[in-house]
Amino acid sequence: MAVRGVMAIAMLAIGWLSAVVGGARAAEVAVDVGHGLVDQGAISARGKSEYIFNDRLARRLADELTTRGLRVRPINFDGQIDSLIARPQQAAGADFFISIHHDSVQPHLLRDWQWQGAPQTYSDDHAGFALFVSHHNPDLPTSLRCASAIGARLRHLGFVPARHHADPSAVKPRQPADADNAVYYYDNLVVLYKTTLPAVLFEAGVIKNRDEERLLDDPVYQGRMADAIATGLAACLFVGS
Ligand SMILES: [Zn+2]
Repeated sequence: MAVRGVMAIAMLAIGWLSAVVGGARAAEVAVDVGHGLVDQGAISARGKSEYIFNDRLARRLADELTTRGLRVRPINFDGQIDSLIARPQQAAGADFFISIHHDSVQPHLLRDWQWQGAPQTYSDDHAGFALFVSHHNPDLPTSLRCASAIGARLRHLGFVPARHHADPSAVKPRQPADADNAVYYYDNLVVLYKTTLPAVLFEAGVIKNRDEERLLDDPVYQGRMADAIATGLAACLFVGS
């Protein structure tokens, strides 16, 4: 009986220890590659699909998060996810969701030009990164805190925040949540509200802008951007845990 009693206490202790370790586990970030092989999203000023930009930046971000001791759950890294709702569903159980996108502009701003002999459209009117959160997200405070942390870190490293999303002349002006750090509300995005997780949609920049497209296409720029996002997100999640 005595041996059994000691073993029972030992088992309890192991259970307590694993609970403690479990409580201190690294946060898990679901990183979503926006769009996919079928719906490729926007088309850049030089004719590249947004999906290609999203895929590259998401992979850089996954590496940077892993380097910081965070766990990563890749969403749509094969480009084959078949619905918007499947993205938050596959992220269920993680601690945070970030969807990676690149922005276009409103159609009336587009102008025609030729790139390498092919007709394309561009607009140099807008540029900059932006972050979107939804009032309908179940954890808006964490979503907002992390969006602001990411935006602040990007600005600190010299990245330019977009200023046009709340413009009254826009077809759908977005309500600012933290305008300094380019955080805006976009309430009806499925990936932001059909979820149990705090969630942010990140627009890295405007690929219809000819100068910004070149930057966004540059691996060094992508690496610095991924570094900034990961640093901001890690700080936010560690503070929140
Ligand atoms: Zn997109």
